[in-house]
Amino acid sequence: MIDWRALGERLAEALGRPLDSPRATPLAGGDINRAFRLDAGGERFFVKLNRAEREAMFDAEQAGLEALRTSATIRVPEAILVGRDGAQSFIVMEYIELGGRPAPERFAADLAALHGCCAERYGFAGDNTIGSTPQPNAWRDDWLAFWREQRLGHQLELGARRGFDARLLAAGARLQACLERFFVDYRPRPALLHGDLWSGNQGADAAGNPVIFDPACYYGDHEADLAMMELFGHPGERFFAAYREIRPIDPGYARRRDLYNLYHVLNHANLFGGGYAAQASQMIDRLLAQI
Ligand code: ADP
Repeated sequence: MIDWRALGERLAEALGRPLDSPRATPLAGGDINRAFRLDAGGERFFVKLNRAEREAMFDAEQAGLEALRTSATIRVPEAILVGRDGAQSFIVMEYIELGGRPAPERFAADLAALHGCCAERYGFAGDNTIGSTPQPNAWRDDWLAFWREQRLGHQLELGARRGFDARLLAAGARLQACLERFFVDYRPRPALLHGDLWSGNQGADAAGNPVIFDPACYYGDHEADLAMMELFGHPGERFFAAYREIRPIDPGYARRRDLYNLYHVLNHANLFGGGYAAQASQMIDRLLAQI
């Protein structure tokens, strides 16, 4: 177990103020890491722990949180400190009391504002992880090449190593070869994305402000964030109506949604196996049937 007193001292040093008697309370809910609330010196922090080798994952999470925070569009926890202590690595951030869901119109407005922050190219300043899978973000000028190689191709390669069946891999390769069919007259702007925007990575603070956390940021098609919100649930029509008022959604989104969500389903197949490979296979067949 981590030495909470030593962590409290490093945190105090990072903040430049004393923090007495750190006390950690385990929290439920993390998929990848162990999460804690740290009470120290009358303040509260949110801490995630993993094995020491995972420090780079926390560095990347900090970089993502900083990019989102710098956009000044939607609330994210402020990352304070990343490091390791013996066999453990950690990230410490601002603790936000999360309760319930924000009004869909407020979430739509903040997310549409985030998606208005653009880069010159697709990618990100560093690689990060999606779940615990490495996510390569090398900058590209060509969105289709980015999605073909660094998203679908990357997951299919991991799947080949994991032993995905040959039919799935062959169908995946066919889909990769005809991606341009989904992008007729459509070239997205490289928008700042959360990158892993399922419902478990969003909430509202005590004042009802939307909060997003646990990002896998990169600059890409804003539709990829919208699609993921529809993968394990649906944000509702009020959300989409409010989003569209600020940022148009191209009519071709309906055709591309599964293409974007395929990345996450392949990732789930790589991480968890089970029925996700079959789901990916069905998605690829449906996509191929469209062209
Ligand atoms: P993991 O990386 O293991 O998936 P998350 O970052 O999703 O962990 O955090 C786990 C849970 O902790 C979230 O579902 C959320 O309820 C809560 N949480 C996340 N960030 C904060 C925060 N800054 N303050 C308070 N609670 C948080």
